[in-house]
Amino acid sequence: MADKDYYETLGVSRDASQDEIKRAYRKLSKKYHPDLNKAPDAEQKFKDISEAYETLGDADKRAQYDQYGSAGPQGQGGFGGQGFGGFSGGGQSFGGFDDIFSQFFGGGGGQRANPNAPRQGSDLQYQMDLKFEEAVFGKETTISYTREAMCHTCNGTGAKPGTTPDTCHKCHGSGYIQVTRQTPLGRMQSREVCDVCHGTGKEIKEKCPTCHGSGHEEERHSVKVKVPAGVEDGQQMRLSEQGEAGENGGPYGDLFIVFRVAPSDKFERDGAEIYLEVPISFVQAALGDELQVDTVSGKVKLKVPAGTQTNTTFRLRGQGAPRLRGNGRGDQHVKVKVVTPKHLSGEQKDALKSFAQASGEDMTETEGNLFDKLFGKRKK
Ligand SMILES: [Zn+2]
Ligand SMILES: [Zn+2]
Repeated sequence: MADKDYYETLGVSRDASQDEIKRAYRKLSKKYHPDLNKAPDAEQKFKDISEAYETLGDADKRAQYDQYGSAGPQGQGGFGGQGFGGFSGGGQSFGGFDDIFSQFFGGGGGQRANPNAPRQGSDLQYQMDLKFEEAVFGKETTISYTREAMCHTCNGTGAKPGTTPDTCHKCHGSGYIQVTRQTPLGRMQSREVCDVCHGTGKEIKEKCPTCHGSGHEEERHSVKVKVPAGVEDGQQMRLSEQGEAGENGGPYGDLFIVFRVAPSDKFERDGAEIYLEVPISFVQAALGDELQVDTVSGKVKLKVPAGTQTNTTFRLRGQGAPRLRGNGRGDQHVKVKVVTPKHLSGEQKDALKSFAQASGEDMTETEGNLFDKLFGKRKK
């Protein structure tokens, strides 16, 4: 390790991206895999490649490696105070120190996650568009999306049906091997990821023809969704285990449905409360009337009393949206807007003049002024 340049081993430049490193590793490990390459030095090359990738493939380890160059920490004269300098300070660096320590002394243990431990799959997010009314009343629907599912051919084992993955012959299932190396500090034992099973602890002799050993396959997945009545824009809902397949028999991840609610051209909504503006004539406002107003559940009667002013708000109890948590529905708030007529017939004008006379208005004024006065008065 002391005299190896990992970048050279993988044939990548020092500023290669993690992706480039991964690609180079894949290509080379295929080329020199001892099962495929019978050249006498293939196995050693394969080991070197795996070793290089174990460091460069991990961004944290790579950063440490970069800091110490191709020589590694021991090249600077062993574990002198200076050598430790790079690892002190910062929680992350402590992890790095432990890692290096365990690499050299084979200690540590428990620092790395067990590669065979079941892990839950990734969560997914799905955006669901709802009409205004659908959000108010809820709905049942079925959605479809593509996800990584457990391979149906091998049930996630990665092995051809009828065969089972064997316990790795090299690491006996632990995923790690002890490697003894000559270093400036003498013979050192280190614990490394097994180069045969790459840490899985299993060897698949005959791979599943569907998933080629990954245990996963892409599927179009459908799930029924019951959108609760009263959801609002931006709220989300979790459907457990509708995400992607887990590893090593771990559960599926979850699906998060994010609701996008379209606005209504009539109603405004704030939680369970719904707001509506209704135009009425000044006659209706003055004399009172019974209106038929729209609500989300149809027309509802609303009594406007005589002498109602513009911008007066009436409450229709229980005609709002359902409360998402708790019982019942909110209210609908109806604001009446008194509309001034723009075009009057002669008959209407006469009626208004009579009205003005009866109200003691001065009838010698022009019509314009008459109306200004009439509505100027109303606003008081
Ligand atoms: Zn192994
Ligand atoms: Zn499979």
